[in-house]
Parts: sequence; structure tokens; C-alpha cells
Amino acid sequence: MRINTHLAHMNKAYLFAEIAAKVSEYTRQNPGREIIRLGIGDVTRPITPHVAEAFAQSAQAMSTPEGFHGYPPYEGYDFLLDAIIQAEYAPLGVSVGRDELFVSDGAKSDTGNLQELLAPDALVAVTDPVYPVYVDSNAMAGRLGAHTKDGYERLITLPCTAENGFVPSMPEQAVDVLYLCSPNNPTGTALTYDQLRPIVQWANEHGALIVFDAAYKAYITEQNVPHSIFEIEGARTCAIECCSFSKNAGFTGVRCAYTVIPRELVAQTGEGPVRLNDLWRRRSESRSNGVSYPVQRAAAASLDETGRAETKALVDGYLRNASVIREGLQAAGFTCYGGVNSPYVWLKTPEGLDSWGFFDRLLKEAQVVGTPGAGFGAAGEGYFRLTAFNTEENTKRAVERIALAKSKM
Ligand code: PLP
Repeated sequence: MRINTHLAHMNKAYLFAEIAAKVSEYTRQNPGREIIRLGIGDVTRPITPHVAEAFAQSAQAMSTPEGFHGYPPYEGYDFLLDAIIQAEYAPLGVSVGRDELFVSDGAKSDTGNLQELLAPDALVAVTDPVYPVYVDSNAMAGRLGAHTKDGYERLITLPCTAENGFVPSMPEQAVDVLYLCSPNNPTGTALTYDQLRPIVQWANEHGALIVFDAAYKAYITEQNVPHSIFEIEGARTCAIECCSFSKNAGFTGVRCAYTVIPRELVAQTGEGPVRLNDLWRRRSESRSNGVSYPVQRAAAASLDETGRAETKALVDGYLRNASVIREGLQAAGFTCYGGVNSPYVWLKTPEGLDSWGFFDRLLKEAQVVGTPGAGFGAAGEGYFRLTAFNTEENTKRAVERIALAKSKM
């Protein structure tokens, strides 16, 4: 048997496993100390009543001859495609066709799988820090070359730091794909219309594909931040957009997402132009049997009037936590970014502490768990991510504890 050596050579130290190991070692040595977790990006509030009702009713219907559903359509049921178009795109004045939408089990799967559209030697660019899935999926496919202490040989990384306002400068060399995430995980910052426009223009001029991860779009509160890359002129010829029900409707455990691939998105090949929409359809129909009927019914319920009101209340709750973190830590003397259009606050670690050093101090002195910025890429060094995914009470207590610990640092 010959195995995938690209997979075998991948960096083993998975960030959250390392954090979990440190926390469990601390707990073993300090039994009884209560830890507050503001680390992992998983939602904590239950799915809402209206959505749960649709979920339960359609699951029950599956036990009746009339309500039974077998394999779903590969790309999603029309009722969900139409609900997405009506609730998510029509209000933005963005026109999306049913045949441009692909429903799936998650934006992680979609952003990870989309690399299959690319040539085996395609050149990949990502922002740094980065949601690791974009890098890992390309590394497994052998596209990134050897892993060195500075990253991957064939990966273009675009630093996003306070110095450039967390807006990447476009690479000099031609790349085949650029992964963008806005609102961003982990920095919590979001690209404005003015910042995204030149990136779209660059992609069209250079024939690059943009994979735009909008998993956190429900958290946008500012008027100058687009909810979809397709609000930008020219995006239909260069971009794919991935969205999810995870962070707005609380579907991290239910699993449902969707991706938009415009008909105009075309690659020029030796055999003529090829539509990426056709390629993805072909790929999806071979690789997946779709998303279950009750899950799609639940997703659609989250998009109707009642569902939207419930979902907004969920998101508003997390946003309140984000502002408790941001304002509380700013008052304690931290420099903070994000947390306005996203559930993540990205803070500068105090003078003299790198991001893992700050992690250790917070765990020991405040019993609060966050995520070291360096775990998301070299440019994340010196930063630290806190998430709003906890109860209001725990969030307030965590901020008080961090402020107290800071006063002693
Ligand atoms: N994209 C980003 C940027 C994320 O942070 C996450 C989850 O944390 C996902 C996608 C995963 O979304 P899903 O739950 O739909 O797979």
C-alpha cells in the first residue's frame, strides 16, 4: 500500500488538541478551580423553538408514508434554495439563481473541498492569521510542497496585522486562488466595501479565484461592511461564496451550509472555457448524497420571519458578549480589535508576552481559556483570540478575571 505522504507529513500538533492538553494538565494539578472557556468557536445556545419545531415535525413526518423522503436532491431542496435566495440575497439586491446554490453539511466541508476544482499544482494564497482548513485541505492534496518551520514552501501568505488594518495586500505573483474570510476568524475584523472592491478587481485582472468564507455574515453590524462578496461589482466572474447556518442559527451540531458559484465564473483551459459551477455540480453529485430532509426543513425555518427574529436574538446575545469583552478589556488597558461585526475579539498580548506565554498566564492566573494567535499563523504571534460563545454571566466573570490578572502583569 502506498499512502498519501502529503497527509502523513502534515504538522501533527492540532491547535485545539494542544490547548485541551494544557487545560487538562492544569485541571489535574488544580482540582476544583473553575475554568471559563472563551477558546473554541462553537456556539453554546440551543437551536430556537421555531426551528426545533420544524426539525422535529419533519423528522416525525419521515415515519409516515406521505412524509417519507429518500435521497434528497444533490444540491438541496427547492424550498431551501428559495428561502436562501429570498432571505439572504434578495434584501441585498443580489441576484442568485437556484442553479448557483449548493446546500451541504458545512462550510468547513465546502471550504475544504473546493480545492478539488483546482489544478494539482495551483498556487494558493491565504491571509495570515488564517482559519486552518484552507491551508490543511490544500496541503493534503499535495499543493503546498514541504512543510518548513516558516510554513509551506508553496503557500503564499498575506499578513493581516494591526499595521495594515487587517487588510491583506495582494501578492505580486499570479496565484490561482485566494481564500478570504470576512468577518474574519480569527481577527474578528471585517472587510468594508472599499477594502473588498480592489481585491475583486485584482482577482479579475489576474484570473484568480476568490473563495469567500462568509460564515459570520450574520454578525455584521456596520453599514460599510458587505454581507456578500456578490454585492461588489465584478465578483460574479471571480468569486465563490461559502455560508453556514452554524454561527447564526446555532447549527454547529445540526450541520447545514450553502455555497454560491455564479454561472459567469469560468476558467480558461486549453480545451476552451469551463464553468466552475458545472465542475462543482459534477463533483458534488459523485461525492455526496446531500443533506437530510429534516435538517433542510430546519434550515429553511430559520430563514422565515419567525426564524429570522429568533436567530437575530441569538446573534445579538453573542454580540453583546463580544462588546462586554471588547469594552471590558479596553478599559483594563488591552488593545482590542474585532468584536463589532463578529463574535471574536482579537487582542494584543501585553508587552513581553508572546501568545502562548499569555495563554499560560491567563490559564494560571485567571482560569480563562482563549486561543493563542500564533496558532492561526506566524502573523498571529503577539495576538490572542477570545470568543463570545459563552453565557453573558461567564463572559462578564471572565473579563473581570482577565482585568484583575492584567493589573498584576
Ligand atoms: N468557516 C469559518 C471561518 C469558521 O470559523 C468555521 C467554524 O468555526 C467554519 C467555516 C465552519 O462552518 P460549519 O460549521 O458550517 O462547517
